[in-house]
Amino acid sequence: MMNIRENLELLYRSIPPYVQVIVVSKTQGPETIKEVYSAGHRAFGENKVQELTSKASALPADIRWHFIGHLQTNKVRLIVPFIHMIHSIDSLKLLKEVDKEAGRIDRMVTCLLQMHIATEETKFGLDLQEIFQILGSPDFKTMSHIRIHGLMGMATFTDNEGLVRQEFRSLRDNFMKIKTKFFPHDTEFNELSMGMSGDYGLAIEEGSTMIRIGTAIFGERLKPLNPVA
Ligand SMILES: *Cc1c(COP(=O)(O)O)cnc(C)c1O
Repeated sequence: MMNIRENLELLYRSIPPYVQVIVVSKTQGPETIKEVYSAGHRAFGENKVQELTSKASALPADIRWHFIGHLQTNKVRLIVPFIHMIHSIDSLKLLKEVDKEAGRIDRMVTCLLQMHIATEETKFGLDLQEIFQILGSPDFKTMSHIRIHGLMGMATFTDNEGLVRQEFRSLRDNFMKIKTKFFPHDTEFNELSMGMSGDYGLAIEEGSTMIRIGTAIFGERLKPLNPVA
């Protein structure tokens, strides 16, 4: 039996104090999430809109929800009223939609741009050129209800530590390039969301400020019988 509280304590003891932990609660039920909540933790991450909205309405309102999965523009409206941070902005179209919906309710939504750093083909994310295009676009200059606080990335799922480290380092290098060009005096552009249960140590060594941790706290997730795309 995994002890969730113990896992959380062990995790906190193994990381520097400036690193934020986002507890990834996808597939976990409200009762399990409450165990982490009652230990004092408030930042949780979800990757599916439906699952997030139903949990958010069932759990305490002071939870800070982070959206970490691929977000479709037609679902933006469902999370904008309460989301704390969207880590997974992967197109100008999506960013525009978040700004529009946030504007409708006069809320400011904090976002990260998701960058593609893995050698794997399958993961979502922007490349540096696309990020430069977005941040340099006239559209971006007119947006008044979003704030960009940094970048998110996922390394290749592999035992090859050298490769993972190199990918995290490239995210950090790109973060510095983007900061220099577009946010030189903006102290809020300071987040690097990188590192999961299997690679957060490397990610922190390479400059991560936010790690997204699921299995190291909850144990292995049960796989759905009929995976949906
Ligand atoms: C599931 C997930 C995580 C957490 O992964 P673990 O290996 O369980 O820690 C982190 N980030 C994203 C985007 C995820 O989908």
